[in-house]
Amino acid sequence: MKNILEMKQVVKSFGQGHTEVQALKGIDITVKEGEFVSIIGPSGSGKSTFLTISGGLQTPTSGTISINGKNFTNLNEKERSKLRFKEVGFILQASNLIPYLNVEDQFKLIDKINRKKVSGQEVNGLLQALDIEDLRKKYPGELSGGERQRVAIARALYNDPSLILADEPTASLDTDRAYQVVELLKKEAHDKNKATIMVTHDIRMIEHSDSVYRIEDGTLTKIEG
Ligand code: ADP
Ligand code: MG
Repeated sequence: MKNILEMKQVVKSFGQGHTEVQALKGIDITVKEGEFVSIIGPSGSGKSTFLTISGGLQTPTSGTISINGKNFTNLNEKERSKLRFKEVGFILQASNLIPYLNVEDQFKLIDKINRKKVSGQEVNGLLQALDIEDLRKKYPGELSGGERQRVAIARALYNDPSLILADEPTASLDTDRAYQVVELLKKEAHDKNKATIMVTHDIRMIEHSDSVYRIEDGTLTKIEG
């Protein structure tokens, strides 16, 4: 299995001098194709910083990150956003759907940016897998928390990235829905061979992951897998 994400000695500091906060203190991790990884840690432990840095939304203070064999670290902003768009699907805490677009148009926007159309058949398959076919004409404000999160997952998977990053994707859901979302993420990782990382503070959500890490005070430790 190919390595999709490789991070070596990644450090991220915010601020300077006596106000400096080291949010990540030398992170090493490798995630392979089709691997579903959970990272558990309390609030403030560095989960969101880890995830945004691993997907190139922020740059590290030091260390290296490569995605699908390409070193992210030395790219300029423009090259980085291009690689990110192609290789990374984000599912962020606030589901990041565009409020004035209906579900179908959320996907069409990706086609537009991509200048390439995903086939109708593939779109249908994805919407079916996530059980959101009937929601095509609805706006984010008309969806329940669970529906919104499933649409956000579909959008993250839409242009077939190699790496899926999910930041507490179950935070706003009841327990049943939360389990379903995690199951879905795992299934997509295995069926479509996506390297997937989910960060969460909810210990119940990490069962059945291929590997589990704990993050505490910016330090990552493997605890299972
Ligand atoms: P989590 O997602 O686990 O709650 P975060 O990654 O958001 O944790 O934050 C980790 C630490 O880094 C916290 O102490 C937080 O205050 C700090 N931090 C995160 N982002 C910034 C920033 N942009 N500026 C300053 N400090 C930050
Ligand atoms: Mg967070």
